[in-house]
Amino acid sequence: MISRPKGTEDRLPAETGKWLRVERVLRDVSERFNYREIRTPIFEHTELFTRTVGETTDIVEKEMYTFKDRAGRSLTLRPEGTAPVGRAYIENRLYSGPQPVKVYYIGPMFRYEKPQAGRYREFVQYGAELLGSSSPLCDAEVIFLAVEICNTLGLTETTLHLNSIGCPGCREGYRKALTEYLGARESDLCDDCRRRVGRNPLRVLDCKNETCRAILAEAPSMLDYLCTGCKEHFETLGKILTGMGMSYRIDPSLVRGLDYYTRTVFEVKWPPLGAQDAILGGGRYDGLVEALGGPSVPGVGFAVGLERLLMAVEKGKNPPQGWDRLDCFVCYVDDALAYRALEIANRLRAAGVSADFDQLGRSLKAQMKQASRYEARHAIILGPEETARGVATVRSMDEGWQREVPLSEIEKEIVSLTRAGGR
Ligand code: AMP
Repeated sequence: MISRPKGTEDRLPAETGKWLRVERVLRDVSERFNYREIRTPIFEHTELFTRTVGETTDIVEKEMYTFKDRAGRSLTLRPEGTAPVGRAYIENRLYSGPQPVKVYYIGPMFRYEKPQAGRYREFVQYGAELLGSSSPLCDAEVIFLAVEICNTLGLTETTLHLNSIGCPGCREGYRKALTEYLGARESDLCDDCRRRVGRNPLRVLDCKNETCRAILAEAPSMLDYLCTGCKEHFETLGKILTGMGMSYRIDPSLVRGLDYYTRTVFEVKWPPLGAQDAILGGGRYDGLVEALGGPSVPGVGFAVGLERLLMAVEKGKNPPQGWDRLDCFVCYVDDALAYRALEIANRLRAAGVSADFDQLGRSLKAQMKQASRYEARHAIILGPEETARGVATVRSMDEGWQREVPLSEIEKEIVSLTRAGGR
C-alpha cells in the first residue's frame, strides 16, 4: 500500500467542514479590514527565499523542498507567503497603484521539519500583508486583524508577545555586542548556535536548547540598542496598543525565524497548545521589497497556521458551535414519497439552507439516525396521510418539539427557523 508522505495529512469529509468554516472566518474578517485576496504560485525560484528569508535560517538551511525542473532551474515549494507577495507586488507593479496595498492569502506551505503535533511538512497558512506604509498605525492594524481573527474563533485567552529587532543600522551595534557576549560562552552553546555566532548571532536568540536558553537569559537586549527612529516606532506602537486596550508582553528574545524582519516582531501565543504554542507570528519587513530589486517600500504582516488555529479552537473554552451541521434532513415514511423528499430538499437548497434526504431506502428510524449523524438542526417527516392533506411534520432535533407545516410554506419555515438558530 502506498501511504501519504511523512508530515502530510488527508483532510477527510468529516473535518473539511471545519476547515471551510475557519477559512470563511479568515476571509470575512480580512474583508472587514479591507484586505483583498492574492494568489501566488505554489513554487517559486529558489533565490526568492534565499535572498529574503535568509541563508542562515532554519528554513533555508534545512527545510526547503528544492528541486530542479526539467530545464535545470532551481525551484522551491514555497515555505512561506511573504516573499512571494513581495515578488508579486514588484512584478505586477502594484507599487505604482494606490497605496497601501492590503492583501491576504490562504494556501499550502512546505517545510521539511520534524513532524509533531502542530508541526507538519505540508501545512496551510493564512497571511495578511500591508505594503506601502511605515506608520506604526499599520503595525497596530495587522495586530488587531490577527487578534480579531482569534476572537472571532472564540480564542480570547491569547497573549500577544512583542519585540523590536531594529533596523540594519542599529542592529549592527547590537550584533557586535551579542557576538562578543556569545563568543565568550561559545563552548557551552549547542552545535547549531556555535556555528551561527559568527554568521548570524541573532538566530541564536530563538534556539530552544535549554543550556543556550540559560545563557541567553543574561544576553544584551536589542531594545537597549535601538536607534532613535526605531525606538520611537516601538514606543508609538506600544502607546497605540495600550490606548486601544490591547495588552501585550515585551519579549526581548523574540526574533522570529526569518531574516527579512525589521523593527516590530510579534507572536500570538496560546499556551494550552504546548510546545507549538505560537498560533501566529509576524512583523515589519521594510527592506524586503528593495532586497528583491523593487523600490524601497515598507511592509508589515503576519501568518497563521490553520492546523494550529484549528487545534486551539477545538481545545478552547468557546469552540464555535454547529460548524458542521446540516440545516435540514428530509425523511419519508414510505418509498413512494422518496421523490417528494428529493423535491423538498431541492426547494430548501434553492432557498439557501443545506438539506439532504435518505438515498438508501432506509426505515424512518434509520433515517432519523442519519439526521442525527449529520447533526441536522431540523428534520422534515413526510407521511402519506399528511402529504395527502398538504402538510409535513417539522421536528426540531435540538429541542424535540414537532409541528405540522403546510408543504407550500416549508422553505419559508425552515429558512426562518435556521436563521433564528443563528447559523
Ligand atoms: P512562520 O511562517 O514560521 O512565521 O510561522 C507562522 C505560523 O505558521 C506559526 O505560528 C504556525 O501557526 C504556522 N506554522 C509554521 N510552521 C509550521 C509547520 N511546520 N506546521 C504547521 N504550522 C506551521
